[in-house]
Amino acid sequence: MSKLLIVGSVAFDAIETPFGKTDKILGGAAPYIALSASNFNVSSAIVSVVGEDFPLDYLTMLERKNIDISAIEIVKGGKTFFWRGRYHNDLNSRDTLETQLNVLADFSPVVPDTHKDSEIIMLGNLHPLVQLSVIEQLTTTPKLIVLDTMNFWMDNTLDDLLKVIAKVDVITINDEEARQLSGEYSLVKAARVIEKMGPKYVVIKKGEHGALLFHEEQIFFAPALPLEEVFDPTGAGDTFAGGFSGYLAKTNDISFENMKKAVIHGSNLASFCVEKFGTERMENLDRNEVLKRLQQFKKLTQFEIELF
Ligand code: AMP
Repeated sequence: MSKLLIVGSVAFDAIETPFGKTDKILGGAAPYIALSASNFNVSSAIVSVVGEDFPLDYLTMLERKNIDISAIEIVKGGKTFFWRGRYHNDLNSRDTLETQLNVLADFSPVVPDTHKDSEIIMLGNLHPLVQLSVIEQLTTTPKLIVLDTMNFWMDNTLDDLLKVIAKVDVITINDEEARQLSGEYSLVKAARVIEKMGPKYVVIKKGEHGALLFHEEQIFFAPALPLEEVFDPTGAGDTFAGGFSGYLAKTNDISFENMKKAVIHGSNLASFCVEKFGTERMENLDRNEVLKRLQQFKKLTQFEIELF
């Protein structure tokens, strides 16, 4: 059994930011999620697919972080999913220039028997029917199912997406996507509409402006750490989701109070991800750096105030 079962794209990304440009580098939701969750030393496994063109070095790097990669299918003669994006000058918005689904187009996931009783399921960005198929293969009801998705699937496969949203406990999406999904501009109203679709908890990510956690009448807000330099925001959302689900898997506590801490851990880890291109920063992160930044988070958000 793995504590945390991660489903998501494993990709080649080509990224353009105001600071530079990369050729095909390691990307995809699953590596970002898994690298982030690995900071909590929980047993985790990825279910995904790549083509024969995918470098083994990338898989070995994930394995070195104790991530079980045995359920990443390698399709003979297949090409790995490819995504190309360009960030605007403010780095808060980006354009997708190219999405080649390649082996993702007809991926039918197989959850190994050994992982069918995982405790926390983190459904990263992928075709909603793939996410649904993973849920259907589980043999025991997990403690928590967390779903992350994006506008691409809202634009192209909304009916399927609504089916999977109905089956999850937590959804994490960004502010624009929350507005698109709910048809509401106010994020408070949007979260209420989304809760009615199924998830009891809604996390709305607001990039450099932090993240909001909604549950019935309760709302919690975590800022993002103000950074001097943001180099490449790719994967920040997935890194957040990895920190959030990794912390919940580690602590075995899915109360609202503990989810607040999970949101802080997610924001903290995401603040590292954006400092370098791709997954580079997350591959070389040490525990002391993470703890130090958590302290900064504490300082940033604590204050004394008197009512009068
Ligand atoms: P984020 O910046 O957290 O939204 O995630 C960026 C990652 O999402 C990149 O590494 C891409 O490879 C991946 N990605 C982009 N579009 C898709 C898609 N349609 N399906 C799955 N993954 C995607």
